[in-house]
Amino acid sequence: MNVDILLNNGLILEFNKKPEIKSITIKDGSILEVGKNLEKKYKATHIIDATDKIVMPGFVNTHSHVAMSYFKGLSDDLPLQEWLSEHIWPVEAKFLSAEFVKDAALHGCAEMIKNGITTFSDMYFFGDQTAESAEKAGIRAVLGEGVLDFPVANYQNADEIFAYIRKMHNKYEKNELIDFAVAPHAIYTCGKENLIKAKDLALELGILLHIHLSETKQEVQDCLKKNRLRPVEYLDSIGFFEGNVVVAHALWLDENEQNILAKNNSSIAINTSSNLKLASGFSSFKNYLDHGFNLSIGTDGVASNNNLSILQEISLLAKLQKALNDDPTILPAKEMIQIATIGGAKALKKSEQIGSIEVGKKADLILIDIDNIEAQPMYDPYSHLVYSSASEQIKDVIINGKIVMKDRELINIDAKELIEKAKYYQKILKLF
Ligand SMILES: [Zn+2]
Repeated sequence: MNVDILLNNGLILEFNKKPEIKSITIKDGSILEVGKNLEKKYKATHIIDATDKIVMPGFVNTHSHVAMSYFKGLSDDLPLQEWLSEHIWPVEAKFLSAEFVKDAALHGCAEMIKNGITTFSDMYFFGDQTAESAEKAGIRAVLGEGVLDFPVANYQNADEIFAYIRKMHNKYEKNELIDFAVAPHAIYTCGKENLIKAKDLALELGILLHIHLSETKQEVQDCLKKNRLRPVEYLDSIGFFEGNVVVAHALWLDENEQNILAKNNSSIAINTSSNLKLASGFSSFKNYLDHGFNLSIGTDGVASNNNLSILQEISLLAKLQKALNDDPTILPAKEMIQIATIGGAKALKKSEQIGSIEVGKKADLILIDIDNIEAQPMYDPYSHLVYSSASEQIKDVIINGKIVMKDRELINIDAKELIEKAKYYQKILKLF
């Protein structure tokens, strides 16, 4: 039988199975078989030698702002509100355009692939251009179009944004890589009326809701003052959780808020680096784990992170939670990998298609080189991935059954051109 790709003799992290040296065949975008001696059974168009490589599901990044890639390092070391209102928003107001977003998003997609991300869930503007760049790069994306009460980018009001989301949803409905979502920015930038409209639209189209929530203590205090409710309680009071919701940040949830998220099958996207850098603070997740609602990993934008390494995120989060809980057994390595893969897929309501290596699922896979000094010896690949690995070890990336990075070379993107463009934009932005 003919197949598109044969991955030969890799250390496969198959779902619910012990890591083992096996092979994988891929046909029509999906995983056809996982087993031994597959080279005898199949004739493959592409053969990838996966000897001395870990083969695992690609990372699912559940909170990003991919087109902010040209704002990386533009302004650092400031608190969230000052950073947003005095630095990021003015630059966005001046420079955001369809062309800017298309270029910046392509840079961000390339950077994500180099970090082993095979799916990302974004929140930004000009989703059509981001979709174009994601498609070009060959990466899977859920594009949340940002909703705010005030005029932004090329929208005068939220109703224009809702109409745009409807149009984009129809345009990309049959696209294998792209989905759209409704992304009200936050409860302090979106009033009750628009939050309800956002929820209604998401329910009508059967798409995700993606919102920043409970990011700072100030946000919680302001919400209590204004609504006499904490942020999650407030959204619950207006029926927001009737939709499929991914809550980004969610650092300051009390017991009742955690119960609300658990009851509604909502997910949170944890953005450790961004929260630590902006000193938004950090709470213990021990309680969160006990409540059993779904956790996933986000990078946030590179303007606040300032990188897109999921390996770095999971290493940092695991260690931070151990320290905060005075408990080294919390969030063990295997659990961290699950949170960054199948946890993300569950958050995006895509766990039937992606997030693990299982026959019939989409072939979104990454290959990590372990034939080097930093990687040896290796007793447990999960431990190795969380505590010892860096993105530079990620050699090959396959998304939807297509090779998008081979030996760290991007297949669909001209890296040189991308770097030149970034340098060009850096000069312009610096002048501002
Ligand atoms: Zn964010």
